[in-house]
Amino acid sequence: MGISKRRFIQALGAATAATALGQTVAATRKRRYDLLVIGAGTAGIPAAIYAAARGASVLVIDAAATIGGTLLLTSGQMSAAGTRVQRQKGIDDTPDLFFQDLMRISRGTIDHSLARLAVDNAATTVDWLMDNGYPLLPGYPVEGVAHEPYSKPRYYWSELRGVAILDAMRPQFTQAVNAGKVDLLLEHRAVELRTGASGTVSAVAVEDSGGKRIEYQPRNVLLASGGYASNAAMFEKLSGYPKYLDASYPFAQGQGQVLAESVGGYMRYAEKYLTNFGILLATSTIPSTKLATTIFHPQQRQPWEVYVNTGGRRFVREDVPSVDAREQSFRFQPHLRHWVVFDQSVLEKAPPILEGWTRDDMLAAFKAPDANFFRGATVQDLAQAIGVPEKALADTVEGYNYGVQTGNDFYGRKHLPTKLQTPPYYAIQHQGTSITSTAGIAVNDALQVIRRDGSAIANLYAAGEILGAGATQGQAFCGGMMVTPALTFGRLLGERMIRFG
Ligand SMILES: Cc1cc2nc3c(=O)[nH]c(=O)nc-3n(C[C@H](O)[C@H](O)[C@H](O)COP(=O)(O)OP(=O)(O)OC[C@H]3O[C@@H](n4cnc5c(N)ncnc54)[C@H](O)[C@@H]3O)c2cc1C
Repeated sequence: MGISKRRFIQALGAATAATALGQTVAATRKRRYDLLVIGAGTAGIPAAIYAAARGASVLVIDAAATIGGTLLLTSGQMSAAGTRVQRQKGIDDTPDLFFQDLMRISRGTIDHSLARLAVDNAATTVDWLMDNGYPLLPGYPVEGVAHEPYSKPRYYWSELRGVAILDAMRPQFTQAVNAGKVDLLLEHRAVELRTGASGTVSAVAVEDSGGKRIEYQPRNVLLASGGYASNAAMFEKLSGYPKYLDASYPFAQGQGQVLAESVGGYMRYAEKYLTNFGILLATSTIPSTKLATTIFHPQQRQPWEVYVNTGGRRFVREDVPSVDAREQSFRFQPHLRHWVVFDQSVLEKAPPILEGWTRDDMLAAFKAPDANFFRGATVQDLAQAIGVPEKALADTVEGYNYGVQTGNDFYGRKHLPTKLQTPPYYAIQHQGTSITSTAGIAVNDALQVIRRDGSAIANLYAAGEILGAGATQGQAFCGGMMVTPALTFGRLLGERMIRFG
């Protein structure tokens, strides 16, 4: 059998007996399920819990050896308006205000109906998690963390990040499995969908880790299999940029997207690709892990450096208070790459720009042979080291120094502490990249997968990152607008949107 006792217990706790495991796989073959959920992650778990509570027979499969999906590593920041905790704290907030904020931050680039569905129902999701012990950090909700702030405190976070969300859902999920309402197959992945004469999905082929194939004929199928951010080829094809950063869930391979396309679905929103302001990668070999967090928020640390692109030019007011303005300016830079450039006096006087690093840590990094830290005896030497035009970088530094002297920075920057004129000169390379999937499978308002002509594959649903970040965030980072819609759409599908019987 594909599931080992150890792995099953790891996922569900000791409550499940070993003998049940073998029986589970054998028994699943004989059943015609009301719902087959592909992916026991952020969207799949609430879908299964709620569908089972309605009396549906549910089979959940996951390619991984454990449940949780991206919840195991996500920051898990959620956003919702009109929650009980907001009311208790006297925060007057509504889904309408939330939607207006999304429109403002994304400049109208969200999918209006999917975002509306998400914000109208997000509060119930957060209330449900809180009812089930979600440990909200003291002082929360807040307006924003790391992303462009909302106009109201509607940002929820826990010290345990995504795992806190999983922990809140786990008891209900485990209970449903133990009660025989949900069958769970770990290390089983969906490999094929087939449609019948009516165009609906008639069969799902599933493979265990040994390649053994099982076929199911469920009445409904939910694709909750996540994004494609760990599939380098698919990521590059859809974003137009290599996959530089390795920080996504390893099973986010885009298999659900391929399955949906195989029965007539299609991908959209790839053009909304956006990255965080550059990341400091650990190595020059990609995909790389992240080395450190660079403090770009002037609210945390005012910039002493200039940021230059591959042309050796500045491209943004480094102390612009808006996170989104920085991110949008970066969208237009060649190769989504920039360098943080400074001199010896900045190194000596400024608080280190890398979170948790000391000056000595920085100096040691500049001595290391890897490719992301550079030093030059002159500005021209530095330009050569990082591969940008010498004259352009020299002009940039001279122009910045003019701003420091006169107070008239060409970009309107206000924080101008010191000229860059003391050798040696330093540069730290930053690379824009994304850990989520921008493009996603097209669905209608009922979350049914649709064909290019708009017709629905009536019994094939999708929820979570498979819909693409572009759907619920547009071409912006709208905090919490991936985890919360994933949970919410999963819940809604299980609770009422999928019609059983
Ligand atoms: C580091 C990080 C931080 C993030 N921080 C935030 C944040 O703070 N706020 C926010 O809103 N969003 C955040 N996101 C994004 C968000 O966490 C994800 O978009 C969301 O959790 C994805 O949920 P999902 O249900 O679509 O996928 P998942 O939770 O990944 O679940 C998909 C499941 O499907 C399984 N699977 C895949 N293919 C198959 C197959 N063929 N057959 C069977 N099973 C399969 C996988 O193993 C997985 O368990 C972050 C993402 C990352 C990587």
